[in-house]
Amino acid sequence: MTIGIDVGGTNIKGVLLKNNKIIKKIRIKTKSKSNKNLLTARIFECIEYLRQSKKGIKKIGIGIAGPVDFKNQRILNPPNLPGLKNIYLGKIIEKKFKIKTVIDNDVHCLVLAEAIMGAARGKKSVVGLALGTGVGGGIVIDGKIMHGRGGTAGEMGHITIRGDGRKCRCGSRGCLEAYVCEKGQEKTAEEILGRKMSSITLQRLAEKGNKKALKAWNVIGDNLGIGLANIVDTLNPEIIVIGGGLAWAGELLLKPAREAMKKNILSSLAKNTKVVRAKLGKFSGAIGAALL
Ligand SMILES: [Zn+2]
Repeated sequence: MTIGIDVGGTNIKGVLLKNNKIIKKIRIKTKSKSNKNLLTARIFECIEYLRQSKKGIKKIGIGIAGPVDFKNQRILNPPNLPGLKNIYLGKIIEKKFKIKTVIDNDVHCLVLAEAIMGAARGKKSVVGLALGTGVGGGIVIDGKIMHGRGGTAGEMGHITIRGDGRKCRCGSRGCLEAYVCEKGQEKTAEEILGRKMSSITLQRLAEKGNKKALKAWNVIGDNLGIGLANIVDTLNPEIIVIGGGLAWAGELLLKPAREAMKKNILSSLAKNTKVVRAKLGKFSGAIGAALL
C-alpha cells in the first residue's frame, strides 16, 4: 500500500492505493498558502486519515503544484504555495511518519497516473500536458518519469511556438502556454469574438454552433497542435494525454490540434500519434503521487 498526496493552492487531495486500486481518499481545503506550519499540518492531517488503522504502508508520495528539485527532493518556489518555498517536505514527512517519502511536481504525477492506470495504460512512451492557469507537462517512459538533470524535464508549456508571439507569464514570448492556458484561450476568444469571455462560455457557444466560437477553438487547437508536433518530432511518443481543468472542451480542442500536429510533424511514421483526453479526473495527481 502507498499513500499519494496532491498539494494544490486550493485543495489537498489524498489517496491510499493498493494494487493500483484506490481504497480510501480524502479532499480538504488547503486553507493557507503562505504559512508553512499550517500547510504542513493540513498535509499531515490527510496522511493521518489515510493511514488510520492500516499497516504495511510502504511509501508516501507527494505531488506539489510547482517546481521541485527532484534530485535533492526540495520544493523550489511554487507561485501558488509560497509557504512551501525551499523546504525539504519529504524529509519532514519521513521524520514524522517514519515512512519513506518522495516528492515531485504535480503534473509529473498526473502523467504517471495516466500512464499506469488511465488513458495511456499499457503504453511505453507517454507524454502528458495539463492545461490550466498554466501549462505543465510530463514524460513517462517504461512507467518511469523522465526527470532530466535537475528534475524539470517535461516543461513543454514553454516551448516556443511563435518567436515573436504573445508575452508569456515566464517572461519569454510565444510559448505554447500563452496560447492554450486559461488566459491564452480567453485572449484568443476575445481576439476573434470581440468581447471578453471565459473558455467555458466559449465552449458553450461553440457547442451551439456559433461560427466565431468554432473558429476560436480551431485557432486554439491549431496552436496546441504546433506544440504537439514539436514534442512528437523530439520524442516520438506512443500517445499524448491532455488533461487539466482547461481540457474540458474535448474534441473542440483536440480535433484541430491533431490536424495541425499532423501537418507539422516531419516523419510520416509519427503522424498517427494518438492524442487523447486524460481519464482519471481530479484525483489523478494524488494517484500518481502514490505511484512515485
Ligand atoms: Zn513561457
